[in-house]
Amino acid sequence: MHRLQNTGRSARAPNGLSTGFIQATNPPSAAWRVGRFAPTPSGDLHIGSLVAAVASAADIKHREGAHRVRIDDIDPPREVPGSTDRILHALVHFALPMDGPVIRQSEHLALYQEALDELIKNQQVFACTCSRKSLQDGQLCVASCHTKLLSVHEPVNEQLKALRGEASVRLNTASLSGSLVIKDEIQPNQYIDDVTKIGTPVIWRKDGYVSYLLATAVDDSNGITDVVRGADLWAETPAQQLVMDLLNRSVPQWAHVPCAVDEQNHKLGKQTRAASVHEADPLVLVQKVWQFLGQAPQVCGSLEEFWHNAAITWDREAVPQVLTQRIE
Ligand SMILES: [Zn+2]
Repeated sequence: MHRLQNTGRSARAPNGLSTGFIQATNPPSAAWRVGRFAPTPSGDLHIGSLVAAVASAADIKHREGAHRVRIDDIDPPREVPGSTDRILHALVHFALPMDGPVIRQSEHLALYQEALDELIKNQQVFACTCSRKSLQDGQLCVASCHTKLLSVHEPVNEQLKALRGEASVRLNTASLSGSLVIKDEIQPNQYIDDVTKIGTPVIWRKDGYVSYLLATAVDDSNGITDVVRGADLWAETPAQQLVMDLLNRSVPQWAHVPCAVDEQNHKLGKQTRAASVHEADPLVLVQKVWQFLGQAPQVCGSLEEFWHNAAITWDREAVPQVLTQRIE
């Protein structure tokens, strides 16, 4: 049984910074911090994702760090053609601080495969052949599922296909013991007294694609020190941190800002067809987002001035400690 070594760990020094990955404009030092905004190209940038973008950029600039933009394009079936370009145009429209070239998860498939191999080797994953229907109650596998271990000597997708093409790779939390503390710089910390309560999240999908969980756990522990993002991902953080721990990677400082909802308490996102932000006056919109984030209103005449002030005055403690908040 694998006992978790690292519980409640906060960010380590970013000694994993690879200079090829992070194009540093300043020499890396102990104080060097890196944040990221990571949109999914399944639609246009909307006000909900703009909240996360502004928070992430202002926060890391306040810490004099670098701000990377990463496109989380690992789900081709859900990708909307052209949305990567439109998202990037929108970010330029808002003059979002971006350092170094845009990162694309689709270029990191070898890293995800390597991480998967490590989990397979350590018998921390299994091939789940449960049907969607049988998993509906509490997402628990049938007992025999956990015994379907995989081999590192054969391509995982071939092994999954051999299981009637109906298998996904899941995290074998039943083999673990221990607790987990997820520290959050904005929301309350999460305390998981027993890691098996995280369930058996999907690591590799039955359609052969890496899961969002594994890809993000790998990338957010690769030189990223600060993950400031929407609280719609707050509940997924324990599983992400657990995967980082199992892979013995560094855990970033987490900070979750409120998720913007409408008057019906629906998340403003692609699903609710939230208006795309391309056409709006960018300065008016970032000011609106700034106030949504609990920050003191700025008097400024340009986006350049806005971002300059934002880096100086950003205050994590002023961000409302709620998971959802209505945006006008
Ligand atoms: Zn199963």
